[in-house]
Amino acid sequence: MQRSKSEALFAEAQKYIPGGVNSPVRSFKSVGGTPPFIARGQGARVWDVDGNEYLDYLGSWGPLVLGHSHPAVVEVLKKTAEGGTSFGAPVEQEVELAKIICGALPSVESVRLVSSGTEACMSAIRLARAFTNRDKIIKFAGCYHGHADGLLVKAGSGALTHGIPTSAGVPESYASETLVAEYNDIGSVERFFEANPNAIAAIIIEPVAGNMGVVPPANGFLEAIQKITKDNGALLIFDEVITGFRVGPNGAQGLYSITPDITTMGKIIGGGLPVGAYGGRKDVMEMVAPLGAMYQAGTLSGNPLAVNAGIATLKELQKPGIFEELETLAVQLTDGLTKAFQAVEIPSTINRVGSMFTGFFNAGPVAGLAHAQGSDTEMYGRYFHAMQEQGVYIAPSQFEAGFVSTAHTEADIDATIEKASKALSTLR
Ligand SMILES: *Cc1c(COP(=O)(O)O)cnc(C)c1O
Repeated sequence: MQRSKSEALFAEAQKYIPGGVNSPVRSFKSVGGTPPFIARGQGARVWDVDGNEYLDYLGSWGPLVLGHSHPAVVEVLKKTAEGGTSFGAPVEQEVELAKIICGALPSVESVRLVSSGTEACMSAIRLARAFTNRDKIIKFAGCYHGHADGLLVKAGSGALTHGIPTSAGVPESYASETLVAEYNDIGSVERFFEANPNAIAAIIIEPVAGNMGVVPPANGFLEAIQKITKDNGALLIFDEVITGFRVGPNGAQGLYSITPDITTMGKIIGGGLPVGAYGGRKDVMEMVAPLGAMYQAGTLSGNPLAVNAGIATLKELQKPGIFEELETLAVQLTDGLTKAFQAVEIPSTINRVGSMFTGFFNAGPVAGLAHAQGSDTEMYGRYFHAMQEQGVYIAPSQFEAGFVSTAHTEADIDATIEKASKALSTLR
């Protein structure tokens, strides 16, 4: 595969941008090689600056549930840009997006828009602390909640991939307020509550983990988490930045029938533009300024471009049968991939919830971080490059989710399975 233009750009990028990338997950540091610079995307495909075409399962790391440059999104963006992109004053569409979110997620009675998932999670933690008057939080090893200081402790995603789950530059005094439990292990949570009575403000959790690769919650785990927060006067924060409007029309909370106190969102609700949101119970949200004493603000929060892209995306997702269609495609893909792995006798476990999935190079089951880390990441790296050669774009890390969009067709999925078989056959 010819990549001379990308290689030249990457050399140039490294002169001016740390590591040549504006988010570490984009670098190919853990799999080796040079990332292609993407020139454009359409539907389920992207093209790099050298003209190579890829079937895309990265989906910009989750937001692009409708695929690239969906006509409804493009049209509203053009129209909005002509009328001004930011006013720092309320706009009507903010109300519409908030209404759609509150309508879809029954636990969310009131919602504040921000500009990233990081901001949403950072603010949700601050809010839980303000509401409970407690400082400590529990997170799970391998879960990622953005890059706010106290959340970069045993974090997933790029932090995990690059071997720095607990970031340098986070004061020990912050990190010590973050208690790290094991996903799908309620005992590890109980021990923290016993050891820290009346000190834990909240549990923050990805209800379906996506940032150590996809790991679904074990039966009863989320219920147990909810009960222990209730029993101890702590709040439950669902980080639905990936799962919101991805695993179903009502998020993971709808899928598993759990009512968290606070929910964070991002990715899909911005339709490919920078957005985040946090919302929840009215009495909790009333702590947020200007109503209450918890301060949080944003110059570009709720700007019409991002909000309209989000509304257009969520409206498309309201069409009947969309989530069933996404799931059918994802099942077709993961079934096909499972057979492809079996055919070459490479141990694998494919975890899937809705249209998010990860194929682990691991005999499995993969039910937590330690299991995920038992995967053959060296072989994943070789598979990744073999897939790039075949024209399929997957995450440059074993510890990430893949995403199917409504723009993928059955033919695309069949083609992908065939390409994966070819890629896998080169590994042995
Ligand atoms: C992506 C992600 C975030 C952070 O969102 P950004 O918009 O990248 O800041 C937070 N939580 C989860 C679960 C995510 O996947």
